[in-house]
Amino acid sequence: MLNMASATPIPQNKVAQVVAKLREVKELVPKLAVDGRITYPVLEELNLEVNNEELLELMVQSGYLTKSVEATVLTCPKCNKSNAISVVRCPKCSSFSVTKERLLEHKAGGHIHPETVFRQKGGLVCPTCGKPVSSEADFRVLATWFQCAECGAKEAQILTELKCLEDGTLFSSSTGGLTPIYRFKLTEKGTSTLEFDKDSLLNLIVSMLPKGANAAKAISIQGRSGASHTFDISIKSAKGEKLIDIALSKNMVDDMVVLASYAKVFDVGNQDYMLVAWPRLSPTAKNLSQFYKIQTVEVSSQADLKKQLGPVITV
Ligand SMILES: [Zn+2]
Ligand SMILES: [Zn+2]
Ligand SMILES: [Zn+2]
Repeated sequence: MLNMASATPIPQNKVAQVVAKLREVKELVPKLAVDGRITYPVLEELNLEVNNEELLELMVQSGYLTKSVEATVLTCPKCNKSNAISVVRCPKCSSFSVTKERLLEHKAGGHIHPETVFRQKGGLVCPTCGKPVSSEADFRVLATWFQCAECGAKEAQILTELKCLEDGTLFSSSTGGLTPIYRFKLTEKGTSTLEFDKDSLLNLIVSMLPKGANAAKAISIQGRSGASHTFDISIKSAKGEKLIDIALSKNMVDDMVVLASYAKVFDVGNQDYMLVAWPRLSPTAKNLSQFYKIQTVEVSSQADLKKQLGPVITV
């Protein structure tokens, strides 16, 4: 038997809010803040008072959402954040003192010099002919390289690293961590999940369980007749076992459901049983449940379910 009480309960009311929001916006897109924090602005608006990323992950595991990688960010190996700036270094001596140099050709006379030699106060002037090189059209870039002020190395490639703005750690793609960030969409299950989805309600019951109670969903019990009967949820505690079925209807739960409950409970013996009818029982179903002494509750909202079942499922 699955010990559902020890698993992280999925907060159903939060799930319902996320599902409703996603129906509206279609896709949940992450936003990277300047400090490297990943947020989902749409969820921030809902102010769910939970760890949004954990909630989304739970919803993926429970089949409400699918996720796809939006980007993979490089994170600091020390603080795991991605609040960093790019810095360049000399590949030879690791100095931070590096400049970029370009080899320019003054088109007019084919005069070739490094850019720093062309550079005068006020702009570029050709050192050979003394003419000003005022626009980009006057010269051609023949090469670009990097020059180290420490060791003098001239290199075509430079070392690019990241410097963490939180703790100053220098890291690269090989020493940093990789963190995927995701965008989320509703699955078919998520799209068709109404507030009164049976599984959501069962999960809600599980989330209400006090410590020391174990729940198992869709359990099968063999009756005295030899037939097996399935119950939506079984709750075991020191007090014994309680069996609960949830009957959902768009309108009213009818007689047949009550009769089926009676037959099952009768066959498996004298059980502590409850039928949860959503949103209500038909008048004849109600009469039958009284006649056959089937304990029933009528609920039509999650708050209702909590209120009515809370006192019943104590340890
Ligand atoms: Zn850091
Ligand atoms: Zn160097
Ligand atoms: Zn010139």
